[in-house]
Amino acid sequence: MRVAIIGAGLAGLTCAYELGQRGGGAVDAGGAVDALNVDVYEATDRIGGKLYTVPFEGGPTDMGAEAFMARRADAVEFFRELGLGESLVEPSGLGSLVYLDGRTESLPRGGIMGIPSTSEGVAHLVSAETAARIDAESEREGFAWTVGGDMNVGALVRERYGDEVVDNIVTSLLGGVYSCAADDLGVRATIPQLADEFDRLVREQGAEQGSLHGTVHLSTAVRNLENARKQLPTGQGAVFNAFRDGYQELYETLAEASGASIYIDAFISGIARQGDGFTLKGGERDEDGRDRVYDKIVLAVPAPTAALLLKQIAPDVAAELKSVQLANSAVVGMRFATDEGLPQNSGVLVAAGEQDVRAKAFTLSSRKWPHLAERGGALVRASFGRFGDDVAIRADEDDLVDWALDDLQTVTGFDGRAAGLEEIYVQRWFGGLPRFDEQHLSTVARVKELLLHDAPSIRVTGAWASGVGVPAVIADARAVVKHLL
Ligand SMILES: Cc1cc2nc3c(=O)[nH]c(=O)nc-3n(C[C@H](O)[C@H](O)[C@H](O)COP(=O)(O)OP(=O)(O)OC[C@H]3O[C@@H](n4cnc5c(N)ncnc54)[C@H](O)[C@@H]3O)c2cc1C
Repeated sequence: MRVAIIGAGLAGLTCAYELGQRGGGAVDAGGAVDALNVDVYEATDRIGGKLYTVPFEGGPTDMGAEAFMARRADAVEFFRELGLGESLVEPSGLGSLVYLDGRTESLPRGGIMGIPSTSEGVAHLVSAETAARIDAESEREGFAWTVGGDMNVGALVRERYGDEVVDNIVTSLLGGVYSCAADDLGVRATIPQLADEFDRLVREQGAEQGSLHGTVHLSTAVRNLENARKQLPTGQGAVFNAFRDGYQELYETLAEASGASIYIDAFISGIARQGDGFTLKGGERDEDGRDRVYDKIVLAVPAPTAALLLKQIAPDVAAELKSVQLANSAVVGMRFATDEGLPQNSGVLVAAGEQDVRAKAFTLSSRKWPHLAERGGALVRASFGRFGDDVAIRADEDDLVDWALDDLQTVTGFDGRAAGLEEIYVQRWFGGLPRFDEQHLSTVARVKELLLHDAPSIRVTGAWASGVGVPAVIADARAVVKHLL
């Protein structure tokens, strides 16, 4: 059996590795074992996609993803299986700040993605009027919720608690993960535990009638989740981990261990049917000079690219995929000779609407990660761009660096130019992340269902189909391989 994987980001490489583990191939109806040949096609000149470790002089430094949710035991187990258990490192645990109205404040630690259950932890970030509104939320009529449904995060929190909670807190926190404002994101798509709690509350109310519709209170749901979190056993280790030498450890190990043939600079621009199989426009040719025919294909590319590739053979799927939009972003990595004057914090998020600052967040990497602090000096990542804001595309490199240095000084007081800027790396992420709005999950479900019907030998995976976090991307890719064979 021949399998083509299009895209050598985390999803594609995980699929290649999983297929490699099943190297003996699939067993056919007659019991014969079919050899499994896997080709991976990558459009750019490197593997890893949004995992990208750059060789700074001080040591390898991530310019895309830098951490992962270590509470996902499946991911940690997978990294151990790959022999990378010893590479996992924990953060310092220093808190983060939010830049608001020209000052920095500590980020609330309670709540769910910045959505509080009471005004207590956020009173320093909102007006007295908003604080009173948060505390009175449970006394108002609840909002309508349907089990299994979704709602816009920004619209929901604005209606229940007011604009300040969204603009000063929730957008900064969600934007740091999704490169989108809260108004561009869905609750279930981005804070699934909150949507599940709304479901549970509605089910509880309608238990006798079996109704899937009801009214719930935001503060009640958040408080229930906070209480559940308090019940969790302590001492489980850090919430997030990283790789000591960056994500290259992961993507290089996956590629090597997969045993697949990986073709870089190989842009695939179309898929055509050939008998029971498929050929790829831009794919390899066999020794007889004919286009190589594949029995199965995995598309591990961003949604708009998947739409383009499926246009001919599954036009309905392609049409659905077009609604998935992408957010652009840029990261400026900077290494300074000294860290004197850099605050003792892991990072600073910038509240929406701050006019004097262009960056949306700073990761004070050498404060956040002890293994990076050991290198000496200071390492800082400035992040720019949210959905609908093209700054990452429009700005030229010099401007991005100047803004990063100016904004860092405005926000933290740290003068990077005086601290001796020793290294800079600018990475633009065109279409870095999909927009997980309130329609996203139903679009993904429809895409998968239609594809299973129209072209069952082709599967889709990747951040847009699974959720953006590294553990979610890995889990989905592994599940796709299981079903593919
Ligand atoms: C700046 C940034 C920071 C992040 N930080 C974190 C973090 O700290 N923790 C975390 O868990 N997640 C983080 N993420 C998210 C995480 O990195 C991604 O969700 C994940 O890496 C996506 O992997 P993927 O394989 O789905 O997609 P990609 O990495 O986008 O891979 C797709 C690949 O397909 C290739 N391709 C596209 N079109 C074609 C074609 N036509 N032919 C051949 N190849 C093609 C692309 O070049 C690319 O290599 C971050 C993302 C970004 C952008």
